[in-house]
Amino acid sequence: MEPLIGIDLGTTNSLCAIFDGEPRLIPNALGEYLTPSAVGMVDEDQLVIGAPAKELQITQPNKAAVCFKRLMGTNEKIRVNDREFTATELSSLVLKSLKEDAEKFLKVDIQNAVITVPAYFNDNQRKATKLAGEMAGLRVRRVVNEPTAAALTYGFHDQNADKKILVMDLGGGTFDVTIMEIFEGSLEIMATAGESFLGGEDFTNRLVHTCLEQKGYNFEIAELKFPQMLARLTKECERAKRLFLTEESTTISFPDESGKSTDKIVQLSRKQFSDVNRHLMKRLERPVTKVLRDTDILPDEIDDVILVGGATRMTIIREFVCQLFKKEPNCKFDPDQVVALGAAIQAALIDDDAAVDDMVMTDVCPFTLGIEVVKTFGSREIGGYYMPIIHRNTTIPVSKEDVISTIHANQTQIQIRVFQGESRKVADNIKLGELAVSGIPRGPAKQEVFVRFCYDANGILDVEAYIPETGKKFGTVLTNHVKGLSNKEISKAIERLQQLKFYPREDIKNRHLLLFCERVSGDISLFERKNFEDVVDLFEESLSSNDRDFFARVRQDLLICLSSLGHPYSEPKADSE
Ligand code: ADP
Ligand code: MG
Repeated sequence: MEPLIGIDLGTTNSLCAIFDGEPRLIPNALGEYLTPSAVGMVDEDQLVIGAPAKELQITQPNKAAVCFKRLMGTNEKIRVNDREFTATELSSLVLKSLKEDAEKFLKVDIQNAVITVPAYFNDNQRKATKLAGEMAGLRVRRVVNEPTAAALTYGFHDQNADKKILVMDLGGGTFDVTIMEIFEGSLEIMATAGESFLGGEDFTNRLVHTCLEQKGYNFEIAELKFPQMLARLTKECERAKRLFLTEESTTISFPDESGKSTDKIVQLSRKQFSDVNRHLMKRLERPVTKVLRDTDILPDEIDDVILVGGATRMTIIREFVCQLFKKEPNCKFDPDQVVALGAAIQAALIDDDAAVDDMVMTDVCPFTLGIEVVKTFGSREIGGYYMPIIHRNTTIPVSKEDVISTIHANQTQIQIRVFQGESRKVADNIKLGELAVSGIPRGPAKQEVFVRFCYDANGILDVEAYIPETGKKFGTVLTNHVKGLSNKEISKAIERLQQLKFYPREDIKNRHLLLFCERVSGDISLFERKNFEDVVDLFEESLSSNDRDFFARVRQDLLICLSSLGHPYSEPKADSE
């Protein structure tokens, strides 16, 4: 059987796993499970992915891109060095790097993958994710919802349970909540809700705003004029955010406009952190209330609240769970890993692996899907109303049909506009695309046209229309308002990406160390810097010499030097070779 890997393609971090009797994570070239979803360019247009790109983003933000998943499904261009990419293209580079890591580690070719997406990803975003996989040379066998994957991990290890479970997934940029029921090995997703623009990064950004305000800077101006200052300040705020887990207060070193550390500091307390993030906490409440209402379940009927995503480590999130559900959250599995492990279980389900023989899983469509209709009020016709066809939280795959009709006599055409959302008016929903129906036989008003929506297990929608009188059918492909790419454009993009070279794998660890040093050199005093840079120069020189002893000695000196400066470099944990 061809190997099938599971990939959690996160906003902040991505991971890869395979099923081998049980799900197992696959380490990357640095020997780590978490690969930051970052793409950077070094030297002559050589690509670095993951931790080295994240380091580069801090010292030279114009040479690296992060958080691009937030732009998935749009045509917005992201600049890296002097090239432009879409979020799909950047994601494909991350996927390609994960694929190569898996191939090296497993010593086999990998061509098939299951990729996870936030439950709340819309049709465009899902299609873009699938395309990113294809651009990376992967056949995407399934696009699975992240909270569903997380639920699968818990379900796999607790197959005899009879429980109602709520999964809260707060990652870097998205928030998902799902309620599911486990009963005798069957996992039924009952409802899911979420927000695609709410995540741990927003909590960090609030701290960044607070620090800028205290020092008299306007965010927009800082973003435009002093990107290095902003990148380093963000790194500092990220550190502070994590410290609030154990500390009541902390100080942030406020960088100068070129991103170098200064002796200016900002004092921040945990209380301040809660205060500036109060409105974000309010936004977290909404999807939770929504899934409880949709399933008619009371908070105290939930047996387990499972936390997923790095940002659920924040104390305020745990307090929020305790307050609402009157119980401690269940964190049996590492919140960073549980989605990737579930993706591997989903892969096993697709492969009919014996270890998951007794498991059955059903998922739901996270939002309502429908079309625009015109309503008549007396003699007045008003457009812009929404007619749902598939209601949210319907079990998938699902296919539903409805009838619409012409409003005027001799009307021969109808433009079907497809939307996703919960509002009565289409203007407040997200438009997914259009389908033109023509050739309706002339006659009085109210000629019928059938519209069929098919929502598949990947969460991808197909729309079909047909005229019953003539039997004529109309295309299933939506013309997305976010311009869909033609096959030719896709091939061109793939070709363009293939021309880019990945940084040599065998040198990536040393490159990472060098980029780490570059960041540290901006953090230390000018006095310390001179001596430090001499050691770094020597290390760089040793890289190109063939003298292994010299290299090992200089590298050791550099590590000691970093530790003595208070910036210890954590050596990769395991070797992936
Ligand atoms: P994604 O799935 O979107 O890639 P992750 O699940 O990896 O995201 O979570 C990333 C987010 O978690 C980031 O915003 C990061 O700041 C936050 N995070 C990770 N560890 C901690 C921690 N110890 N305390 C607070 N936030 C954390
Ligand atoms: Mg995630």
